Amino acid sequence: MYFADRDTAYADPYYGLKKLIYGNKRFSENKSINPRQTEQDLKNAELGQKPFAVIIGCADSRVPNEIIFDQGVGDLFITRTAGQVMAEASFGTIEYAAAALNTKLIVVLGHQSCGAVDAAMKLPENPPGHIVTLINAIKPASLKAKQSTNSDETKLELAVRENVLVQVEMLRNLEPLLSRKFDSGELLIVGAVYNMQSGKVEFIEETITSLPKFRNSN
Ligand SMILES: [Zn+2]
Repeated sequence: MYFADRDTAYADPYYGLKKLIYGNKRFSENKSINPRQTEQDLKNAELGQKPFAVIIGCADSRVPNEIIFDQGVGDLFITRTAGQVMAEASFGTIEYAAAALNTKLIVVLGHQSCGAVDAAMKLPENPPGHIVTLINAIKPASLKAKQSTNSDETKLELAVRENVLVQVEMLRNLEPLLSRKFDSGELLIVGAVYNMQSGKVEFIEETITSLPKFRNSN
């Protein structure tokens, strides 16, 4: 179940995607191999970095990215904020990975029972401090979810998913760098949701089927 080595995954984002899918499969089936996590790997200044995926995830302490995808040091370039809400600095970070590190796969990773999405569902009148930024960013997804079902539990699940879809769309249209790379097929931008009970990451089908055909430049 190892599937693709890191060089192949780095060169071709479709292999990168499969590498994440297989890594998560190992994790959810308790067969993690903990690659590149020895002391030697972690303290190796010669390693450089060629991360094959950028993960835009939630700051939630129960979603440790390397562990749930069973990857090691140098594999994943990660930004995490509550509800994986993005702002200018996150965009710059992601662009840096795409332009300078040449990472070709971006995964927006939401998760079940997300506290930030749950907070946005409650639409508090006056959220304290800068938390209002998070609430406002997630609000459109939460409103859409509220309109589509009456069940509170389903509402939260729908909002988590919708929030990921909104964020995937935002990155695909982000001028000038990501949009251009996405349109030319150099860069894949997909969405996924992590289920904390099963340990499984579900890649959202519609974000995968809507990908432009990847043109391999090698
Ligand atoms: Zn969360």
